[in-house]
Amino acid sequence: MKAAPYIVVDHVCKSFGQQPVLRDVSTQFCCGEVSVIIGASGSGKSTLLRAINRLTPHDSGTITIDGVPVSDNEATLQRQRTDVGMVFQQFNLFGHMTVLDNLTLAPRRIHRTPRAQANDQAMALLHRVGLEEHSHKYPWQLSGGQQQRVAIARALAMNPKVMLFDEPTSALDPEMVQEVLDVMRQLACAGMTMVIVTHEMGFAREVADRVLFFDQGRIAHEAPPAEFFGQPANERIRAFIGRLG
Ligand code: ADP
Ligand code: MG
Repeated sequence: MKAAPYIVVDHVCKSFGQQPVLRDVSTQFCCGEVSVIIGASGSGKSTLLRAINRLTPHDSGTITIDGVPVSDNEATLQRQRTDVGMVFQQFNLFGHMTVLDNLTLAPRRIHRTPRAQANDQAMALLHRVGLEEHSHKYPWQLSGGQQQRVAIARALAMNPKVMLFDEPTSALDPEMVQEVLDVMRQLACAGMTMVIVTHEMGFAREVADRVLFFDQGRIAHEAPPAEFFGQPANERIRAFIGRLG
């Protein structure tokens, strides 16, 4: 049986000034599914993820999360941002807070989780990403790979239903890419619903249930990874995959 759609994107358009960035994008992200989005720089991948999280409001069409349209209603927005975790290329950790405080801030403020309980949950998450020994450190004392693992743990601390990743390894030195992909692979194996923008084709091939190819603001093609990489649907996709090596 096919899983229920958790996020539904329906005829979504977005322009910045005169420039159309999302052109009639429709797709669904189902529970437990790992979707990888690839495509050239500027094709609208980040804008789609940001629209799902309402960081960038779209112009027309609808996006629903668990049946509820994203909108500017404060209560809805807060609930949806709790359910939808996001990890950015640039980590975006709170630089003046320890790792532990980065993880406990939102649960304490938004879920009103008592400090001791929030700390226990945070330590369990840090264990999961292999960083429990670094809980007292500040972000600047960590490597890029460690910071990104903290960012993933911080997103997980809100107990999200789905995780969006926007090029989570693109800002990392090559030797740190795998440790972050390993954490993401574990999450996928644990059944997390994930939408991942990445250029890591090996990871996509291995972990994705489906690959979406963005081209000039449209989903130009979608296929399971074996088919997507094995028999590229057209020359543009073949060329794109070829460039990434
Ligand atoms: P991608 O993530 O695929 O590289 P983006 O979604 O970031 O692409 O951007 C798509 C296009 O929208 C690009 O041309 C980019 O310059 C433009 N764009 C993105 N964000 C903004 C913004 N806040 N203001 C104006 N233009 C933007
Ligand atoms: Mg982007």
